[in-house]
Amino acid sequence: MKMFMENNGGRKSMEKNMKGKVCVVTGGSRGIGRGIALELAGRGACLVINYHRSENQARDVQSEIEAIGGRALVVRGNMALEEDVKNLFAAVLAEFGRVDVLVNNAGVTRDGLVARMSAADYDEVLDLNLKGAFLCSRAAAKIFMKQRSGKIIMISSVVGLMGNAGQCNYAAAKAGLIGLTKSLARELGPRSVTVNAIAPGFIVTDMTQELSEEAKGKYIESIPLGRLGQVQDVARAAAFLASPDADYITGQVLVVDGGLRC
Ligand code: NAP
Repeated sequence: MKMFMENNGGRKSMEKNMKGKVCVVTGGSRGIGRGIALELAGRGACLVINYHRSENQARDVQSEIEAIGGRALVVRGNMALEEDVKNLFAAVLAEFGRVDVLVNNAGVTRDGLVARMSAADYDEVLDLNLKGAFLCSRAAAKIFMKQRSGKIIMISSVVGLMGNAGQCNYAAAKAGLIGLTKSLARELGPRSVTVNAIAPGFIVTDMTQELSEEAKGKYIESIPLGRLGQVQDVARAAAFLASPDADYITGQVLVVDGGLRC
């Protein structure tokens, strides 16, 4: 009985281990970003939900967080634009006075075979997925360095590790995020700031819903765990990296892919 109570107590404290931490999630209106925002809020964090186009969905996430007694600020902004990133962090500081965690999640795909890919489609993916993460990390780093604490989590992809035909722009951006992660981990480590990346495999969201059932079936055959990933699979990994349990982990890439790459 005593052991049960101890275990139970331990679990409880883990669940609320983000109490009062201010977490910024870019692209928090839908999909993986939404899942991460809800997971962190469930563990007691105050959330900043950035969105670009989906205001209603961002407001829904805010309502869900408030319904469980949490606090959430919603901020519109295109994370590929320096001015919008500046405004986001100004809004966060005005509301909360600090930032503890940044999740660079906002991302887009513009797929096509290289011979037919326009420079505009290449640039659009790099501008948001990679430069956007740099802009947000730079803004957060200035705050974290003063605080001498903070955590940055990049949402990369297994595509950044393996490549994928038809996604050279996306793969370049996601591989670039890994270099960004490792460089920032070295630069910011002396100020007790950690920087890690998550490389999800195939996760069921709007981004992946266009694939045919046949293509999904083929993916599932190559995944040892025999299923596609759910948003919660990535959200729990992000919550771990955001938590004090990961204080001594930096510069790492946590692959969340059901074993696809093992
Ligand atoms: P999603 O369902 O398409 O959601 C994308 C999110 O990014 C939305 O919240 C969207 O917000 C936001 N966003 C798009 N353009 C933006 C911009 N310019 N500025 C700010 N936010 C913007 O995609 P997802 O599957 O959740 O993907 C989330 C992240 O995980 C991406 O970085 C993606 O590359 C990565 N990932 C996904 C998978 C997968 O299988 N799904 C696998 C590996 C990695 P609005 O709707 O408000 O514009």
